[in-house]
Amino acid sequence: MTDRPGYRHRLKAAASELGTMPGISHCTILHDDGCAIFQRQACNCIPDISIIPADGGSVLVIDASGQASKSSKQ
Ligand SMILES: [Zn+2]
Repeated sequence: MTDRPGYRHRLKAAASELGTMPGISHCTILHDDGCAIFQRQACNCIPDISIIPADGGSVLVIDASGQASKSSKQ
């Protein structure tokens, strides 16, 4: 199966997991250098997505299928 480009569907898939995180978290979405989002178009890459709790807790990485897993870094 080819990974679907974009990030919104992945955040939606991980929503139940993200909803259990207390406090404030930062979400980083790192697009490829050639991603169309830099041309003001829809994302066409498979960006790296990390959720970083502001309190310094474990970082969550959301993979290409929307599965969230804890990681010290991505
Ligand atoms: Zn992108």
